[in-house]
Amino acid sequence: MLKDTDCGTLTLSDVGRQVALAGWVHRRRDHGGIIFIDLRDRSGIVQVVFNPSYAPDAYRTADALRNEWVVCIRGRVERRPPGTENPSLPTGQVEVHALACQILNPSRPPPFYINEDTEVDEALRLRYRYLYLRRQRLQRNLELRHRVVKFIRDWLSARGFWEVETPILTKSTPEGARDYLVPSRLYPGCFYALPQSPQQLKQLLMVAGLERYFQIARCFRDEDLRADRQPEFTQLDLEMSFVEEEDILNLMESLFTDLVEQVTPHKRLRKPFPRLTYAEAIAKYGTDKPDLRFGMELADFTDIARQCQFEVFRRVVQQGGVVKGFAAPGYADCPRRQIEELTTLAKSKGATGLVTLALGQPGLSLEALTPEQVRSAVARHFTIEQVQEMARRAGARPGDLLLIVAGEPATTNAALSALRTEMGARLGLADPNQVVFAFVTQFPLFEWNAEERRWESAHHPFTAPRDEDLPLLEADPGRVRSKAYDMVCNGYEVASGSIRIHNREVQERIFRILGYSPEEAQKRFGHLLEAFEYGAPPHGGIAPGIDRIVMVLANEASLREVIAFPKTQSAQDLLFGAPSEVSEKQLRELHLAVVHPETAPSGPPPS
Ligand code: ASP
Repeated sequence: MLKDTDCGTLTLSDVGRQVALAGWVHRRRDHGGIIFIDLRDRSGIVQVVFNPSYAPDAYRTADALRNEWVVCIRGRVERRPPGTENPSLPTGQVEVHALACQILNPSRPPPFYINEDTEVDEALRLRYRYLYLRRQRLQRNLELRHRVVKFIRDWLSARGFWEVETPILTKSTPEGARDYLVPSRLYPGCFYALPQSPQQLKQLLMVAGLERYFQIARCFRDEDLRADRQPEFTQLDLEMSFVEEEDILNLMESLFTDLVEQVTPHKRLRKPFPRLTYAEAIAKYGTDKPDLRFGMELADFTDIARQCQFEVFRRVVQQGGVVKGFAAPGYADCPRRQIEELTTLAKSKGATGLVTLALGQPGLSLEALTPEQVRSAVARHFTIEQVQEMARRAGARPGDLLLIVAGEPATTNAALSALRTEMGARLGLADPNQVVFAFVTQFPLFEWNAEERRWESAHHPFTAPRDEDLPLLEADPGRVRSKAYDMVCNGYEVASGSIRIHNREVQERIFRILGYSPEEAQKRFGHLLEAFEYGAPPHGGIAPGIDRIVMVLANEASLREVIAFPKTQSAQDLLFGAPSEVSEKQLRELHLAVVHPETAPSGPPPS
């Protein structure tokens, strides 16, 4: 090895040792006759001192060094002179006095700073991914990711789970997204699909008698991307036989409690994990993935709105809408501009507007609140008793701001959920060092797709309906609740799962409601339906998203910061330049001809 010691590990206990280090020049400073370099490797940084009087050759070599050059240094560890220690660096008590220095490879000046965590244009960051990954924050993220995955593997192995690989070239397994397809050379006009998840495969492993399966599985979904989505992502895919919902939730709670406590012990974890039904989540937070690091629960004012003098609210209620809101603590005196921003946010979620009521000053009592102390453009339409009752329901105190949205339930909830998240951030309530996992249960089995006028699976078509709701299946699909559950964390959905159907007849009924003819169901899912006839055990599972969990634990806002080689928001790989055109010969072999759409430019995307 060209090195015998990692830079970031040196402490006072190493003083006097001779070490061989190798790494990158992080920074170089010339202090009138003495050269300092910060030498960086994966483990961290240490300061190296080049003094011409005791190592003239090394000093001459150091004179030529520039940032990101790769060097190998031999030297002695010394205590730093008093007053020059750097307490913010783990190696800040010591420095290495260089005796010899060898240049292993020079570097062109990098296109952005590696030694500072400054903002870098996304295109540049992805094009030079191998340089961006040199940044210490990214290296810590990848290390954390490694430790998370290793922890999961060990933890599950110790509990009798087997890791089994499933194919990447397979047949469409629907998770509600578009498939990535791979053309078959041997069978013209036929395609493999990349798995949206190994869902059916893990169910077949249960039929095969494996009982406890997991896999760190790559999944592929061709859908519109957001900051918390990538076209390919990694799941902890898990399935168990002979289990009920509670068993899977308890397993997850114990895995993620141990994981956070052991892998990220500096985080504050809420225990036990709160559990709420889908209906409760929507009622209290307006979303099925609430951030439970803070309260600010929504309250329902629909009955009060029905009786108030505010025409807009009364009309919404008459048309079957709802009026809901929440209290932002201590926000009554916020500047007007901030209310305007909140109104814009509410409108971006489809709300027609935002009503705010500023409730007097802190220190007053709610009961003694007078109409003059309520500041709002619509205050005159409400009696003071109505205002007090709304405040009571929202848990508001004088000095708080009530934020109220009225309209059709889905948009009202969506707008209030966005406002609540925004207020959590503005008021500093979303503490990055706190981790709050929660389970959301009792999702509806189906959702109505109004555009296409058909029922869709809320989770996926293999999810079991609740036994007590089975009689409603054909009669009232919208009221059927499922045995599906989600795990959420700090406002992100981090896992979904369910108890599955293991009986051919029920599975066929579901396919029928989803609009598959018996022939189509047979063609697409015949393998699974048939397997259910050979003694399929009751089974269920879940699939936590590794990228999202690492993102939350690393306090990052984008998945791209925890994936080594991510794609852009428009699904491009800027380092390799993918997707790219292929040769005529390759197309011919695959029996493909490209028909360029008139609306899109031909050729590969610009990089
Ligand atoms: N296959 C599901 C998904 O990817 C997870 C599961 O039901 O286990 O969301």
